[in-house]
Amino acid sequence: MPLALRVVENPALQGLLLRLRDQGTPRHRFRELLELAGLLLAYEAAPRLPTRRRRVVTPLQAEATGLEPAGDRVVVVAVLRAALPMAMGVLRLLEDAELGLVAATRLEDRPRLPDGGFEVETPYWKTPRIRGRHLVIVDPMLATGSTLARITERLLAEEPSAVTVLNLIATRQGIERLEEALGDTDAALYTAAVDPVLDERGYIVPGLGDAGDRCFGEA
Ligand code: URA
Repeated sequence: MPLALRVVENPALQGLLLRLRDQGTPRHRFRELLELAGLLLAYEAAPRLPTRRRRVVTPLQAEATGLEPAGDRVVVVAVLRAALPMAMGVLRLLEDAELGLVAATRLEDRPRLPDGGFEVETPYWKTPRIRGRHLVIVDPMLATGSTLARITERLLAEEPSAVTVLNLIATRQGIERLEEALGDTDAALYTAAVDPVLDERGYIVPGLGDAGDRCFGEA
């Protein structure tokens, strides 16, 4: 099954993206905008996520039945650092979802891989049960794809029912690498933009810079 790619053109998300790209946006605002972008991306992806019907009684003592996201059948995994604010936005919508945190570091001093990607280390890994649940992976920047592919391969070993990736800016190379990692998994990628250039340091251009540094400071 090919990876379903959805570039979200909604101006509400595009407006957030533009402000995130702007180098003048201060750090506290950058984090808030990233959280809102997570919320809007989760909104776009919601029709693909598990739902349940629930009955409530209104103040008129009348019954109403409706559909809502079944967050308890979803595990959100945030790729540290920059996905953290975005994942908080996702959890505002998927209130009952559990959250896994994984850290990935590109080994930039090691020789590049044949596809131009980086070797990646995953020094921190803490995830709730994934088997049989819908996995939502949150990572704002899909550059070479090395990091997300490595993380996705490890998460797939835990047999989620389906995978949805929420991302802000992708590149063609990153999408292809992710698609390769996902194999025939039922998977979709929601992003706000596919940028044209990946520079020699692995930065997306025009991009928005280093998302982790812009959220939390240079590290
Ligand atoms: N990670 C980032 O934060 N920015 C890029 O441009 C690429 C990877």
